[in-house]
Amino acid sequence: MKNLGLYIHIPFCVKKCDYCDFYSLCHNYELEVEYINALCSHIKAEAHLYKDYNFDTIFIGGGTPSVLNLESFEKLVNCIKKHLKLTQGGEFTIEANPGTLSREKLECYRKNGINRLSIGLQSTSNKELAVLGRIHTFDEFGESYYLARECGFDNISVDIMYGLPNQALDDFKKTLDHVCEFNPEHISAYCLKIEENTPFGKRQDSLSLPSDEEEYEMYMTLCSILNKKGWSQYEISNFSKENRRSNHNLKYWQSEEYIGFGPSAHSFFNGKRYFYSKDIKQYIKQANNGNVVRISEDEEGKTHIDKMDEYVLLKLRLSDGISPAEFEQRFGKSFLSEYPNIEKYIKSDHVSIKNGFYSFTPKGFFVSNYILTDILHF
Ligand code: SF4
Repeated sequence: MKNLGLYIHIPFCVKKCDYCDFYSLCHNYELEVEYINALCSHIKAEAHLYKDYNFDTIFIGGGTPSVLNLESFEKLVNCIKKHLKLTQGGEFTIEANPGTLSREKLECYRKNGINRLSIGLQSTSNKELAVLGRIHTFDEFGESYYLARECGFDNISVDIMYGLPNQALDDFKKTLDHVCEFNPEHISAYCLKIEENTPFGKRQDSLSLPSDEEEYEMYMTLCSILNKKGWSQYEISNFSKENRRSNHNLKYWQSEEYIGFGPSAHSFFNGKRYFYSKDIKQYIKQANNGNVVRISEDEEGKTHIDKMDEYVLLKLRLSDGISPAEFEQRFGKSFLSEYPNIEKYIKSDHVSIKNGFYSFTPKGFFVSNYILTDILHF
C-alpha cells in the first residue's frame, strides 16, 4: 500500500484579517452545515480512487477550521474514517485560532484522534495584532495554548509573522522571545507579503513597512535565535524540535502525493496536479451532483525541464537541500550540468554543501527567489 496525504479546506473565518488572501469567507452556520454535507458527499464519491492507499497525514486547514461547530467537525471526521484508510498513529493536524477554542472543542479534537494543533498567533504585541485585523489578543493565545496542553496536545505548532507595519527588529525579537517561552514543538515564521486584493493591498502606500534590510535582519535573527534555543530550521520558514517536523507539509516540499478536498484545495495524484475553484457555492452544487470539476495544472504541457525545475525549487526550500545523485536517478541528467550557476552561490556563502547535498544557508534562504531565477531554466 502506498501512502498519501489528505488536506481538507475549511473556508470559514470569524472575520477576514487585513492581509489575508487565502480562500475563506465570514463564518455562517447554515453555510457550514451545507458545506460539510457536500464535502462528505465528495469524499464518499471519490473514496474508491484511493482504496489502495493509506493516508498517513491529515491536515484540516483553512480558513479557520476551529470555527466549525463540533457536530460538523465530528461528521467530517467520521466520514474520513469511514471512507478512507488511515495509518494508525499517523499525523492528524487541525489549524486553530485563539479566540475560537474552548476546552470542549479541544477535548473533542483529542477524542477524534487529532494529535497536532497548529495555532495562528502572528504576533505577541496586541497593537500589531490589531493592525493585522486579528480577532484575538496575546492573552487569549496564552489561554488557548495552556488549555490545549491540559487537554493532552503534546505537538503544537505556532505561526508568527515578521515584516509587519511599523515593526522594528526589537518588536519582532519580543514576539520571538515570548513564543520561545511557551516552548511549542514547532514554529512557522512568515514574512508579511502584501497581496493586491486585500485591505492591506488597497492601502499599501500608507502602510509603514520595514525596509528590505530590516526584513533581512529580522530573518537572520529568527534563524539564529531559534537555532540557539533548540528549534532547528528544516524549511525556509519552518523550525522544529527533534522529530516534530510537519510530516504533512513535508509531502508538498518532497514532491510526494496528496489529495485535497474543498474549494481552492490542491492535489497531486498519479503524477497529475489539479485543484478546485475558489467558489464554495459552486463546490457545494457540484459535490451534491456528484461531479466536482478538477482544474488541471496542465501536467501534460509540462516539459522534462519544467519538472526538473519544480523538483529543484521544492527541494531547495528544505534545509536538507538536494542530492545530485537522487536528482540524476530521477531525471537521468547531471544536476551540476543542468544547474551550473549554483556553484557561484557557494563562493558567496548563499549555498552550502553538506554530505553531498546542496542547500541554502539562512542568508541564501532570504534571497532564494532571486537565486532561483538565476539558477533555474525559466
Ligand atoms: S484567520 Fe487565517 S485564514 Fe482567516 S482571514 Fe485571518 S489569516 Fe486568513
